[in-house]
Amino acid sequence: MTDCIFCNIIAGEIPAAKVYEDEGVLAFLDISQVTPGHTLVVPKKHFRNLLEMDSVNSSLLFEQVPQIARKIMKATGATGMNIINNNEEVAGQTVFHTHIHLAPRFSEKDDLKVTFVAHEPNFEELGKLAEKIAQTKE
Ligand code: 5GP
Ligand code: ZN
Repeated sequence: MTDCIFCNIIAGEIPAAKVYEDEGVLAFLDISQVTPGHTLVVPKKHFRNLLEMDSVNSSLLFEQVPQIARKIMKATGATGMNIINNNEEVAGQTVFHTHIHLAPRFSEKDDLKVTFVAHEPNFEELGKLAEKIAQTKE
């Protein structure tokens, strides 16, 4: 047993309803089921979140997302899907092992709200910010 709940699921020490597994990736139903079929896709190797991952490991993870998403869509009869990844507490992360939420959607009234509050564009500010980000080393 480790402190990480998802590492324990990967090790088979805690049960989970698995929907996909390969050498590097596991997908299982989220215990909270915001919508029926809500699935978490996780790398088997422990990373705190996506911000800590390199391109090889993140590629292995994301490579599997579209096909798992399509399986969920087909199996549940969903007509859309939100694919969400939270990084750090301020962004809503509660389990600190990288995971991608796949939440199938059946209605705009599902128990999931993703809201973008739009602001009036200031093109000068956009240009400056884009330039700053572009010039910043990771
Ligand atoms: P986060 O808030 O970090 O983006 O999402 C963590 C997710 O993990 C939550 O949606 C929560 O329901 C799910 N979760 C937490 N503990 C367990 C567990 O023991 N088993 C499963 N299947 N999901 C869990
Ligand atoms: Zn872990």
